[in-house]
Amino acid sequence: MAAISIKAIEKSFGETPVLEGINLDIAPGEFLTLVGPSGCGKSTLLRILAGLEAPGSGDVLIDGRKVNQVRPADRNLAMVFQSYALYPHLTVGQNMMTPLRLRDLSFAERLPFAGPLLAKSKYKALWAQVAETAKILQIDHLLDRKPGQLSGGQRQRAALGRAMVRKPAGFLMDEPLSNLDAALRIHMRSELAELHRSLATTFVYVTHDQAEALTMSDRMAVMMDGNILQLGTPDEIYNNPQDIRVAEFVGAPK
Ligand code: ADP
Ligand code: MG
Repeated sequence: MAAISIKAIEKSFGETPVLEGINLDIAPGEFLTLVGPSGCGKSTLLRILAGLEAPGSGDVLIDGRKVNQVRPADRNLAMVFQSYALYPHLTVGQNMMTPLRLRDLSFAERLPFAGPLLAKSKYKALWAQVAETAKILQIDHLLDRKPGQLSGGQRQRAALGRAMVRKPAGFLMDEPLSNLDAALRIHMRSELAELHRSLATTFVYVTHDQAEALTMSDRMAVMMDGNILQLGTPDEIYNNPQDIRVAEFVGAPK
């Protein structure tokens, strides 16, 4: 069964159609890239998967279950944005703990002044999960820093850590590397691919960068003007493009 199934998704903003009937099955553990030029509808499709945007028509199924009515927080998918959206006033460790507090603590325990209400053992259990995740991402020495005291790459990892800590069934990533400088971006590509291998989790990865898609994906869906023009492995897409627009896009020099 597909981990994520997209069935006949259409979406318009006002009179303008943005997605024109998208069908796509994403396999469990797959690294699937949505790639295409700016404005083709990638982010809109990802936001519909996350539940942040409602489709005009069509269905999204996660593990075979229709989730049209399921709230974003209950979809068990983690979203990582291009702008890392870390809380600037919290440390990396506190940022990473936030999703666990929301999931595992009662409302009273979650209040900022609830220190005494929160049993030490509970706090320790949550902190252990944060520390474990931080270790995987090699940011365990940064847990006491605030986002303003981090480099771009470290902030990126902290945002990933916050997304990972709940052990979601899948990751939705919208251009997560595009704010990094070129050298770091290339370095983080292999780190993300490595992370994907070690987690064995489904990744849906949005990028406008064809080189990024070609190097990282199991399969890539090339989108243009609200449609998927071709779906296949990087090898199939690059060596056997089925459409002149696909050939022009993936063959363009970087
Ligand atoms: P991509 O991520 O591929 O660059 P988007 O999904 O962000 O593309 O946008 C696809 C199209 O939908 C663009 O023309 C964009 O201007 C439009 N669009 C996206 N979000 C909105 C919105 N909230 N309201 C109106 N138009 C939007
Ligand atoms: Mg976008």
